[in-house]
Amino acid sequence: MSLLSVTEARQRILARFAPVQPDEIPLAQANRRVLSRDIHAGTELPPFDNSSMDGFAVHAADTADTPVTLPVLADIPAGSYPDFDLPRGSAARIMTGAMLPRLADAVIPVEDTDFTERAPGTPAPKQVTLFKPARPGDSVRRHGADLKEGETVLAAGHRLRAQDLGLLSMLGAAQVPVYRRPRIGLLSSGDELLPPEMPLLPGKVRDANSYTLAALMDDLGCEVVPLGIAADTAADVRSRLDQAAAEKVNLILSSAGVSVGAYDYVKDVIVSDGELSFWRVNMRPGKPLAFGQYKGIPFIGLPGNPVSAFVGFEVFVRPVVEKLSGMTPRPRPVTRVSLAEAVESDGRESYLRAVVTFENGRPLARLAGHQGSGNLRSVVLANALLIIPSGVKSLPPAAEVDAWLYED
Ligand code: AMP
Ligand code: MG
Repeated sequence: MSLLSVTEARQRILARFAPVQPDEIPLAQANRRVLSRDIHAGTELPPFDNSSMDGFAVHAADTADTPVTLPVLADIPAGSYPDFDLPRGSAARIMTGAMLPRLADAVIPVEDTDFTERAPGTPAPKQVTLFKPARPGDSVRRHGADLKEGETVLAAGHRLRAQDLGLLSMLGAAQVPVYRRPRIGLLSSGDELLPPEMPLLPGKVRDANSYTLAALMDDLGCEVVPLGIAADTAADVRSRLDQAAAEKVNLILSSAGVSVGAYDYVKDVIVSDGELSFWRVNMRPGKPLAFGQYKGIPFIGLPGNPVSAFVGFEVFVRPVVEKLSGMTPRPRPVTRVSLAEAVESDGRESYLRAVVTFENGRPLARLAGHQGSGNLRSVVLANALLIIPSGVKSLPPAAEVDAWLYED
């Protein structure tokens, strides 16, 4: 068993995954879903010349000498269709968003006129005096100024956000082509584990990983299929893995039970109906990583210690889930931070829990408590993972390192 670099292990795992099937869903359900096709504009935006102000539509040429008084021949509320040519030497009252009548080429805002009535329902005046001249196009939103028909609006692989949904609606996309949500079977294992609602018994600990890993996958838009806590017996592990196979999940993610302990049955069961490789990855925490398949379903076995499971997820599972989801692969952005204190490592690529604060605009990192792989509180206190490169055993204060920052 050779020592793999983090990058190599991640590449080997990613190579085994492809995006899940595409689907079409109603726009209202599409927030945070990943597009499966490029979206091209089927209409231009705005779809017609319209007023950006409440005011009076005019021929700009009629406003060269102000003040000028013009007869008001029409009233154009938003949503109406002014199907006429505006004669030279006249004006039409127009509301924000309303279509310009043909031949009108500018709007004079109501503030620049003698028409001061603002109450709702006020009829248009018979005539209006304009105090300021306009150039052609003033206070007009031209058709096609935002978006031309046929332009690519959003690309396949993009995770939809609030503003994307609004734009899709403007383009008439009532149904949206997206990838299905990846379905992930999630297994914890170990006779010592109790769910949080059970009283704590001597020798037992409560199950952290089921909750942390499920929430991480929920954040990524996965459908989590809970497989519960497997007892340290082959029969129990097998029945839970079989449940995952029956549910046709896209990935089985487990924690614990894959090291060399006498009760680590997960690996035996996987091997009996699939295949499993153990990788010693040159990282800390979380050196042992299991990867394989059970009845044809990809399997990733994270270490049991809660910090190792968390870091293992961030390093290996997050990119897998992104690829399954159909997202465009890109490396996670890092921020350069400087150390407020010296840090020690053992030469493996280390993911240290840290609190990054901004002092005089510069990001400064302090370790968030002791770095033991069972100390989940360090992850709770931290807002960043510092990445200490392999081969580095110590760094002095003020040294710069890469960090993954967490929001909130
Ligand atoms: P193992 O990989 O089974 O040897 O477990 C390594 C360590 O992680 C042990 O201290 C386990 O009790 C702990 N552990 C395993 N799974 C969990 C879990 N789901 N939640 C909290 N601790 C766990
Ligand atoms: Mg165990």
